[in-house]
Amino acid sequence: MKTTLLTERDIETAAAILRDGGLLGIPTETVYGLGADGLNADAVRRIFEAKGRPQDNPLILHIPEASWLERYCRNIPAAAYTLAEKFWPGPLTMVLRRRANVPNAVTCGLNTVGMRCPDHPVTLAIIRAAGVPVAAPSGNRSGRPSPTCASHMLEDMDGRIDAIVDGGSCGVGVESTIIDLTAPVPRLLRPGGLPLEALREVLGEVEVDRAVLAPLSAGEKPKAPGMKYRHYAPRAPVTVVTGESRRTARYIRRRLGEHTGVICFDEYTSEFPGCVVESIGSVEDREEQARRVFDALRAFDETNVDAIYAQCPGDAGLGLAVANRLKKAAGFQIVDAGEAEA
Ligand code: AMP
Ligand code: MG
Repeated sequence: MKTTLLTERDIETAAAILRDGGLLGIPTETVYGLGADGLNADAVRRIFEAKGRPQDNPLILHIPEASWLERYCRNIPAAAYTLAEKFWPGPLTMVLRRRANVPNAVTCGLNTVGMRCPDHPVTLAIIRAAGVPVAAPSGNRSGRPSPTCASHMLEDMDGRIDAIVDGGSCGVGVESTIIDLTAPVPRLLRPGGLPLEALREVLGEVEVDRAVLAPLSAGEKPKAPGMKYRHYAPRAPVTVVTGESRRTARYIRRRLGEHTGVICFDEYTSEFPGCVVESIGSVEDREEQARRVFDALRAFDETNVDAIYAQCPGDAGLGLAVANRLKKAAGFQIVDAGEAEA
């Protein structure tokens, strides 16, 4: 299959690919997605094949406005509309009870479905023109860092899908925040482009699923199926170093080998001579870190590094999402620089 690169002007061509059961790379504000007609089970199954995605990791249904929720969900709590009003279009996915018209292929047999309205004018126009909800996970090969521009998606998907719509670089850079509204207390399943603090302001209490912060123990069942898989990983093993930034820099400096890669804050780029260094933004600029973290992880695969150390932001704001992506890329191989020194 030849993969065509489409531009923002090719809305009709893109919509026709979806209607015909094809696979389409779509730009969103978070990361690029791999979309198909979310009501066409065969098309949805091809997403799993193209990505090499495990069969039990469900997809998100993308819709152009909150009024479409009723078509695919039932028992929708008032909180869903409050959140949609405030944060859609935007980087928020809500897990709700699904209707029977949503194929099992999308939800992997769950009785819930993840719903999102992405904040990208081109993709919204494509979904409206297609007239169907678009099922999509991130547009990377399974296990790889998510793509934040069309060329990164092409790296992973060339020859496997019909087309990619080039809508520029993603403004947010990490995937959507996933909140489960079917739990007794709303539950954060994945930190993402919308900070947890913003959800708490609207919802009051929000529980954070344990799998966000720590690896699952053997046999433990994840609430979001995607939580159990290794994710976002470059080829070389990653170690995440938490703690105050000067300390994490010092910790990493003491461990540099001949082919070490370092993910660091901008303030520290000159401190790792002889290493492959990928900076992700200033210490306190978590928005910039979110935009750059996947590109940094992806860049090491073009080099000969055999170990990667990463300075890790704290949990406030988008830091929770950035830290989560780094920790998952590391398979939760985490050291605390403060404890290590003590
Ligand atoms: P991706 O953005 O590539 O990670 O794919 C979609 C994410 O949404 C995965 O992490 C899924 O596990 C999660 N997801 C989708 N539907 C549901 C659902 N019904 N319940 C919990 N998590 C879901
Ligand atoms: Mg993904």
